[in-house]
Formats: sequence, C-alpha cells, structure tokens
Amino acid sequence: MNNKPGLNCPKCSFKIIISIEQLVSGNSIICPSCGLKLDIDKQKSKQAINAVKKLDNALKNSK
Ligand SMILES: [Zn+2]
Repeated sequence: MNNKPGLNCPKCSFKIIISIEQLVSGNSIICPSCGLKLDIDKQKSKQAINAVKKLDNALKNSK
C-alpha cells in the first residue's frame, strides 16, 4: 500500500507522510529528511484536507 496522504518536500523531494490530525491542526510540518519547515496554509490546503478526509473515510468503510 502506497497511498498514504503526504506531500513531497520541495527541497529534497522526500515523501513526507502527514496525518489528518496534523493537516487539520494546521501545525507546521518538518521534513524528516532535510529538516525543512513547511507551514500549512489552511485556506490553500482545504481541498487537500477534504481529499484526505474522503480517503480516510473510504479506508474505514472498507474494513
Ligand atoms: Zn526535505
């Protein structure tokens, strides 16, 4: 399974896995590979959050 929600680090392209809680809370994300700090823009990431929520629901429903 390789469909975990996340984003690629703009600096080192490392796939950063982000939890839904992290996205929704709006806290900054630190790239575990290079240490780059990513600030989440709640407005801009609204669509991404909704997509992640849908995915999460789909995963829960499939169990
Ligand atoms: Zn990085």
